[in-house]
Amino acid sequence: MTLLRDPSILIVGGGPVGLCTGIALLKDGHQVALVDSGAHGAGWASGGMLAPLYEMAADPTCPEPYVEFALKSAEHWQELARTCAFDLQAPSLFLARTEEEAVALLSLRSRANGLGLDLTSVCVPAELTAQAAFQAPSERSLDPRAALNSLLTQFQLLGGELLTGQAEAIGSHQLGLVDGRTFEAETIILANGFGASSFGQSVPALKALSPVKGQMVRVAHPELASPIVRACRIYVLSRGGGLVIGATSDPLAAPVLSVDVDPVLALLAEAKELLPSVATALTIEAWAGLRPDTPDHLPLVGASGVDGIYLATGTYRNGWLLAPAIGTYLSELISGKTLDQALMNLLAPERFSS
Ligand SMILES: Cc1cc2nc3c(=O)[nH]c(=O)nc-3n(C[C@H](O)[C@H](O)[C@H](O)COP(=O)(O)OP(=O)(O)OC[C@H]3O[C@@H](n4cnc5c(N)ncnc54)[C@H](O)[C@@H]3O)c2cc1C
Repeated sequence: MTLLRDPSILIVGGGPVGLCTGIALLKDGHQVALVDSGAHGAGWASGGMLAPLYEMAADPTCPEPYVEFALKSAEHWQELARTCAFDLQAPSLFLARTEEEAVALLSLRSRANGLGLDLTSVCVPAELTAQAAFQAPSERSLDPRAALNSLLTQFQLLGGELLTGQAEAIGSHQLGLVDGRTFEAETIILANGFGASSFGQSVPALKALSPVKGQMVRVAHPELASPIVRACRIYVLSRGGGLVIGATSDPLAAPVLSVDVDPVLALLAEAKELLPSVATALTIEAWAGLRPDTPDHLPLVGASGVDGIYLATGTYRNGWLLAPAIGTYLSELISGKTLDQALMNLLAPERFSS
């Protein structure tokens, strides 16, 4: 048995949520180790959109404390990206291809303005096919693969310890890895995305997790004048000298990570409608990932109901967007600070413990 220094925090999962949580805890003076299997998680497969307006504020039924949480997280990214030395892309261009979509964007503009966010009508760029375009400076994106490397470097620079291994057993204050190593820690945080669902027998709240598969595709194409283009069903990102097109969304009964022809072809067909020159672009990569969803589509963040175990998962479509706010929230919770009760009620894993 390996005993970590006491008091200690052990995080499972080195995706955006685990790394941002580790960084927040280290900044607050905690000793932190992180176990990661090395397998690509959803964070690696993601589009890296930081889009609180489109994802939360656009939905009038989205709880207000959750919208505020997401907006705060989006702001937090600006400082975190600066510290970790990677760029955020902005602004986003929202396109309307029909009258109906244009009306929906006008109503989104009113909601955005109500939250102090800009959504400004602009000319449709010549390379794109649409009826109307609106620019959202607050909607950004990051390159997930580059950001994961930079966040890991920052975690280690702050004194965080990285352990490579696959966690397979969890109990109160204890974690066992597939290779036989066992760890004891005062606090264990499960931040391993959909992978956390394998601990459902020990932590009942995790039985609420379900997989939503997402697929994306990269094509060889000159970058667009607007780095982020969002239409009704897809987004097109100028990244790494090509275009990244995403993303499909398929709830699954069981986790399957195959890349499937039909959804990828549908993404390309949608992109071609928007950007006719995609018709002759070479497809260079397609990939899939599993979003960790919950029945109410809100994350599981906080005490798990099992002594010494906290959860930071269930981030569904917004793990990148929410990661810094989740990190700060958990660090404050573990440090015994008082948090907003309405937000705690929304995120508490114990809402699914029974
Ligand atoms: C196609 C697609 C597009 C997306 N687009 C966006 C987007 O634009 N914006 C956004 O905010 N979100 C997006 N998401 C959602 C986002 O990617 C997830 O919500 C987020 O990655 C969850 O982060 P995480 O750190 O909890 O888990 P993950 O990113 O899945 O990382 C989990 C980590 O834990 C490790 N791990 C897993 N199990 C174990 C174990 N047993 N032991 C040790 N290590 C383990 C894995 O190796 C991995 O490194 C998208 C997801 C997909 C699939």
